[in-house]
Order: sequence, then structure tokens, then C-alpha cells
Amino acid sequence: RSYSSGTKKVTLIPGDGIGPEISAAVQKIFTAANVPIEWEAVDVTPVRVSVVIPPSGIISSTCHFKSKLSAIGFEAHGRLTTGGNYGRLGRLANIMRMSDGLFLRCVRDMAQKFPEIQFEEKYLDTVCLNMVQNPGKYDVLVMPNLYGDILSDMCAGLVGGLGLTPSGNMGLNGALFESVHGTAPDIAGKDLANPTALLLSAVMMLRHMELNTYADKIERAAFETIKEGKYLTGDLGGRAKCSEFTNEICAKL
Ligand code: ATP
Ligand code: MG
Repeated sequence: RSYSSGTKKVTLIPGDGIGPEISAAVQKIFTAANVPIEWEAVDVTPVRVSVVIPPSGIISSTCHFKSKLSAIGFEAHGRLTTGGNYGRLGRLANIMRMSDGLFLRCVRDMAQKFPEIQFEEKYLDTVCLNMVQNPGKYDVLVMPNLYGDILSDMCAGLVGGLGLTPSGNMGLNGALFESVHGTAPDIAGKDLANPTALLLSAVMMLRHMELNTYADKIERAAFETIKEGKYLTGDLGGRAKCSEFTNEICAKL
């Protein structure tokens, strides 16, 4: 909002799980760096609803599935053979023809409009293999949500885990920045979370808002802290609390 001059207002959604602790860490670091931002915190904590499916429901749908397969003479020997998602939505191997087909057509159309951008189509299994063996092969990857969800977690694992990876969604009228990880309920409320993912998301936001000097300064302090290795959180093999790691970054700033 109003990226032009003076103090900018940013909506902050701490969420649940480790959200509040890592949000507080980011706010503290931003204060230490004197970032000209005014936070507007919004509580959108969802009410978790659990749906109980009666056993009979599960059984009848399983039977339905099996009878359908036997009707077309299909012998089931486990998931891969029965198709899983592929069986219902796709036809061949590692692509969902129905849903991916539309996606692919749209991307090809778009690629034609921008011939100056080199365009290449790859199957997801190939991308996974290459990503592990030679990640430098790729630059920008475009794919449907489910594939991106899985691949981004794999990439996070390659560079040190979910505690490190930021993300950003840029639109025409605004942008949203968030860590790639979820609520990490197993470590929530214990001051154990690594706030780097959210911090780097916030750094990405600063660059989007053209506050590059602040972005560079904060990023440098965070990277130095990680490189020194004295105040690492558990996910990076250290023993420091989220607050200790945060304080070290603030001290550097
Ligand atoms: P959700 O349903 O909200 O996605 P989840 O159970 O899938 O929650 P994730 O947040 O996706 O949990 O985390 C997966 C694993 O990675 C958990 O063991 C969690 O503790 C760890 N993890 C995630 N984020 C962080 C973080 N910032 N710092 C340290 N560990 C993390
Ligand atoms: Mg998750």
C-alpha cells in the first residue's frame, strides 16, 4: 500500500502454530533495522473443524472403486497399478492429461507471445531428478499448484530445510509474502522455530517496495549469523532458540 514515500503500511497476518513467534522475530529485526514500515496486524486464525467419516462411508466408496475397476477387467495390485490420481484424471504415466492439458495449452500460448524468453517443457519426474543432480540447470519453473507444492518442499530440503525458504505472490494491485513452510505444530510455542524463511520473505517484500538498502542490510545480517554458526536453530543443527538467533541478527544490525 502507498509504496511512494514516508512510512508504509503493511498488513501482517501472524496466523497460528509458529506463526506468532516468527512474526514477532521479523518485527523485532525490522525495528532494529529502522525499516520505515507500520505493521497492521490482522488475526485470521482459522477455526479447525474435523470431519468424521463413518466407517460405512469408507467401505462403500472402496467397494464402488473396486467394482468399477473389475468392470473394465482391471486387476489391482497396489496403488501404482490402480492409478491413484492418474487413474481418475489422467491416462498415461506422469502427467494428468485432463487438468494439465489446459495448463499446458495456456502456458504454450503465453510462451509464443514472449519469444525472447526461452521456453522448455519437462515432465515432473525429470525435473525432480535434474533438480537434485544439477539444480543450476533451471531458472524459472512454472507448474500447477500440486506439483509446485511438492517440488518446492524438495528444493527446500536441498538448501537446508523449510526454515529457510521464502516466497512471494505478486499481483497487479498488491503482493503477498510468506514462508514456504506451514504452521509446524510439532514445535509451536516452544521458541524453537527458525524465523529465516519468514524474514527472507519480508526481505523480498522490501525489495518489491523498493526499500533495497534495508533489504540488503537485513539479509546480510541474517546470512552472517547463519554462516558464523554460533546461534543456529535446531533445524540447522544448532541449539539456539528462535529468540537467540533473532537477537544475534538484531545485534549485527
Ligand atoms: P501445516 O499443516 O500447517 O502445513 P505441517 O505439519 O505440514 O503443518 P510444516 O510447517 O509444513 O508442518 O512443517 C513440516 C516440518 O518442518 C515440521 O517437522 C516442522 O517442525 C518443520 N518446520 C517447518 N517450518 C519450520 C521452521 N520455520 N523452523 C524449524 N522447523 C520448521
Ligand atoms: Mg505442511
